[in-house]
Amino acid sequence: MSVKAIAERAMEQGQGVLRLTPTWVPRVFCVPGRRIKLHPHDYYALGGERGGIDERWFSSTTPADNGPLTSKNEGLSHIVFEDGGKTELFLLRDAIEELKDAIIGKLWAKYQAWPMYSKFFDNQGALPFHIHHDDDHAARVGARGKPEAYYFPPQLNNHGGDFPYTFFGLAPGVTKEEVLDALRAFTKGENRITDLSAAYVLTPGTGWNVPPGVLHAPGSLCTYEPQKASDVFAMYESVVHDQVLSEDLLWKDSPEEEIGNHEYLLEVIDWEQNTDPLFRQKHFMKPVPVDDPAEMRAAGYQENWICYLSKEFSAKELTVLPGATVTIKDGGAYGLYVVQGHGTLGIWDIESPALIRYGQLTYDEYFVSEAAAREGVTITNPSKSDPIVMLKHFGPDAHTNMPVPLD
Ligand SMILES: [Zn+2]
Repeated sequence: MSVKAIAERAMEQGQGVLRLTPTWVPRVFCVPGRRIKLHPHDYYALGGERGGIDERWFSSTTPADNGPLTSKNEGLSHIVFEDGGKTELFLLRDAIEELKDAIIGKLWAKYQAWPMYSKFFDNQGALPFHIHHDDDHAARVGARGKPEAYYFPPQLNNHGGDFPYTFFGLAPGVTKEEVLDALRAFTKGENRITDLSAAYVLTPGTGWNVPPGVLHAPGSLCTYEPQKASDVFAMYESVVHDQVLSEDLLWKDSPEEEIGNHEYLLEVIDWEQNTDPLFRQKHFMKPVPVDDPAEMRAAGYQENWICYLSKEFSAKELTVLPGATVTIKDGGAYGLYVVQGHGTLGIWDIESPALIRYGQLTYDEYFVSEAAAREGVTITNPSKSDPIVMLKHFGPDAHTNMPVPLD
C-alpha cells in the first residue's frame, strides 16, 4: 500500500485523529534526569556512544540534527496504523506531504509543512548558555529563526535536578565590550559568560517565552518545549557543569565568512531584549484559563493557555475531571500528549503509562487534524478520582482569545 493510501486509511480509522509512537532522542552531552517515564534500564538503549535519552519529541516533522551517528528518521514522529492484526508505522511528515490540508488545514497553503513541534527535555543539569538566531541571521545559513517556550509539567517534576534555575538575557548595565571579552575567551578555558546574566527560579506549573536572539541556559526541570520547526543555535558558554564545549558549537550556524568574527556573534544578540529590566514581566508565563473557570468546571473540564506569547506556536493544558465527558473544539490542527489519567478520545483509548520500555508503543500521543479539531473531539474520563491531563501544541493558526494580544 502507498503511504498516501495508508495515511488515508489511518485518518479514516481515527476519524481525523492519528496515533503517534514515542519519539526518543539521545544527547551525547547530557545526563538524563529520568523523569520522562522511560524504564530505568533504557536510558542508554541506543548505546553509550549516543549518550543518554533525555528528550522525547512530539508531533515532529523535524529531523534531529544529532551528529554523525544520528540514526535514520531520528526525531521524526511516526503514525501507528493497525489493521487486521498487522501494525504499520509511517512518518507523520510523509502523511502530511501526501494529504496536505486534509491534515493540517490552512497551514498547508502557507508552509507546505507542519511548522512546529514540541518536546520534553529532561536533564539532570543545566544546558549551556546559548542563543537561537532570528529569521534574518538564520537566512544567512539557509535556515529559519527559532523561537521557543517552556512549561514545567508538575506531573514530571518530583525533583528539580541539579540546577532548577534558568539564566535569561544579560544583566542591565552589562556592556557589549564585556560580552565580546567573554566570547573571545571561549577557547581560553571557562569563559564564565553567565557572570553577565541573571538566573530565574523555575516553578512547576509555569513557563517562559524565549524569542530568537535572547540568550538562555535552560535549567534542570523536566521541560515541555513547544517551538518553531528549526534547529539553529550557537553555544556561547565554553564550560558548563565541567562539560567542555568544542569551539565549532560557538560558530554553529554562523555563515562561513563570519567564522572567527566575534562581532558577528554579538550582532546575533538582540541587545534590547536581553538587557530589558522588565525581562521577567515580559517573558514569564503563568497559566491563563481559556474561558470562564467556573463555567468550564461546571462543564467537567479546565483548560489553560500555558504558552501564549509567540506568534509561531502556542500550547494549552487540558484537564478533564473524573467522571466527565466533554467535547473540546480548537481553531487549528494540534498534537497532544497525555501526561496523567486514562479514558477515551474519539475512537481512541488514551492513557498515561507509569513506565515505558524503549521501542514500546503507547496510547499517550496523538495528532488531531484541523477538521477534527474544529468539529470538536469528545473525551471521556471514567476514573472516580484521577483527572485526565493533556498538553496540546498548536501551530500559528489557532490563536483565538489569546490572554495577551500578539502584534
Ligand atoms: Zn534554546
